[in-house]
Amino acid sequence: MADKNLYNHDVDLCVIGSGPAGIMVALEYARENPDKKVLLAEYGAQQGTEQNQLDDTIENLNPANHHDPYECTNKGLGGTSATWGGRCVMYDEVDFSDRPILQGECTWGADSLDAVTPYLAKASEYFECGAGPFDLNEMPKWQDRRIAEGFVEGDVLDSRLERWSMPTRFGPRYREELSALPNIELLFGVEARDFSEPNEDGSIECLELRDTATGEIRTVRAASFVLAAGAQESTRILLRNQQVFDNLQSAPDSLGRYYQGHVSGKIATICLSGDPKKTDYQFQQDEDGSYFRRRFQIAQSAIEREDLLNTAIWLDNPLYHDPSHRSGAMSVMYLAMITPILGKRLAPPAIANSITKGKVTGLWQHVGNVLRGLPGSLWNPASVFFRRYCLKRKLPGICLFSGANQYALHFHAEQVPDADNRMVLGDDGETLEIHYHLTEVDIDSVIRSHDLLDSWLKQCGCGELKYWFPKEELTDAIRAMSRDGIHQSGTTRIADSAERGVLDKDLKVFGTNNLYVCSSSAFPTSGQANPTFLLGAYAVRLAHHLSKPSSNQPHHDHA
Ligand SMILES: Cc1cc2nc3c(=O)[nH]c(=O)nc-3n(C[C@H](O)[C@H](O)[C@H](O)COP(=O)(O)OP(=O)(O)OC[C@H]3O[C@@H](n4cnc5c(N)ncnc54)[C@H](O)[C@@H]3O)c2cc1C
Repeated sequence: MADKNLYNHDVDLCVIGSGPAGIMVALEYARENPDKKVLLAEYGAQQGTEQNQLDDTIENLNPANHHDPYECTNKGLGGTSATWGGRCVMYDEVDFSDRPILQGECTWGADSLDAVTPYLAKASEYFECGAGPFDLNEMPKWQDRRIAEGFVEGDVLDSRLERWSMPTRFGPRYREELSALPNIELLFGVEARDFSEPNEDGSIECLELRDTATGEIRTVRAASFVLAAGAQESTRILLRNQQVFDNLQSAPDSLGRYYQGHVSGKIATICLSGDPKKTDYQFQQDEDGSYFRRRFQIAQSAIEREDLLNTAIWLDNPLYHDPSHRSGAMSVMYLAMITPILGKRLAPPAIANSITKGKVTGLWQHVGNVLRGLPGSLWNPASVFFRRYCLKRKLPGICLFSGANQYALHFHAEQVPDADNRMVLGDDGETLEIHYHLTEVDIDSVIRSHDLLDSWLKQCGCGELKYWFPKEELTDAIRAMSRDGIHQSGTTRIADSAERGVLDKDLKVFGTNNLYVCSSSAFPTSGQANPTFLLGAYAVRLAHHLSKPSSNQPHHDHA
């Protein structure tokens, strides 16, 4: 190690990164262990800066399907929760079981879901996403209500839920609690750089932190380290720190590989035949005020029978940018989104792009829609604006009623863990190159899932799908529309050995006995779910795991 300018005290736990994962680990551990010291080291400065060297040194090799670095993460207290949407979705049982389509790459281990389940309730508290279950069939008030008249559950379910956080911005929300705990020290503007080599029993003693303003190196000594720097940066730190794997033959081959996000977009309209007023198309509120929404999901039995990737499909508005929707309210919202400055204030770029598709089209037709729909064209967006931007618990989005009982369908689908989808270091040993593509299998499964939904609706006699593209053009259409990079998983995956993964089931890095990674990069499969809720449950579990005397290094004497 270089400069040995040691901190004036050692700590029991050093957490790197203060996004949702880092904050939950630090808070939960510090509360459980009031006599132990936690250092929470954050790259971002206390006062946010526009540019940062980490994002400037990421090379995105597929901008068509992967957002640019500044759209994918945020730096500073709270990390990317500064711009996240707050959608909290639970993984499904099927995500943890190997299926032929995953080609042997589902390395979770059979008991993973059971192991994390006890921590879901605590995670819900941190996310403030409501205490209710993720299944309407477990809620007496909802048990007998279906998404549309005539729909029955079978191959397709309509009872699985997405829940919504405030959305909770972890920085402002937990700043006070972090400061109030005397055993947490918060350090801003420091970049985790080099770990010392593990000794024979796998213990890593020190980590060098580089001051981002002065370049000064300081060293922290800790009993345990948790990398919670987000998926990209946690992966980059491990790729750079090959010495961490000195007790193995070499770094695990899976490190940086199997990068997954979600395939996402719209290719069809659902045409329902029942009473439009009986269609449950919108966000609902639980007794505690938290929002939830039901979605179609393929049942586990059908996923297994048809060898599909896990897919969620929900009712949505037609494409905003296409004025043929003739909705004045949607045209107002589209025009607001493409207005410079205002658009940026309404939504972060990745979300704005999912609405506008980066297109400025049919302006006069949009204006026509607005005029034709007055006063509703203005009244509806005004009411949405108030509920979405002025209340503490924000309306998560908007889905407008369709008198024709026809809705666009938005799909959000699992990707296969593909070894060629990967993060690697460039020749300079610093740049993070992102290789990300959609496989034929990913796209084919999206199409087959829609076909299955279509035949299930017909079997129920309650509707059908109308595709927006001829069948032979669907593959290209999906490849052209789907873009991720904000749900990052797979690159430091959990497995039963270093031959198959990077972390053990307790998130400990193979070859070490006190270095952990708490990030969605640990997840071997991406399922249909957005990753952060499950990550929260893992963060709480890790804090409790570290609190067990057996898992900790000897207690440090603090200077
Ligand atoms: C626009 C957008 C919308 C999203 N919406 C959703 C959603 O609705 N639902 C959902 O589940 N997920 C969503 N996500 C993803 C979600 O934000 C992330 O999954 C989540 O923030 C990950 O938490 P984290 O703590 O692992 O990492 P982050 O939140 O990224 O925090 C990591 C922290 O580590 C710090 N750091 C990085 N490198 C270093 C280093 N070398 N040294 C010290 N500190 C370092 C960073 O500055 C950062 O503060 C969204 C993301 C985006 C961009």
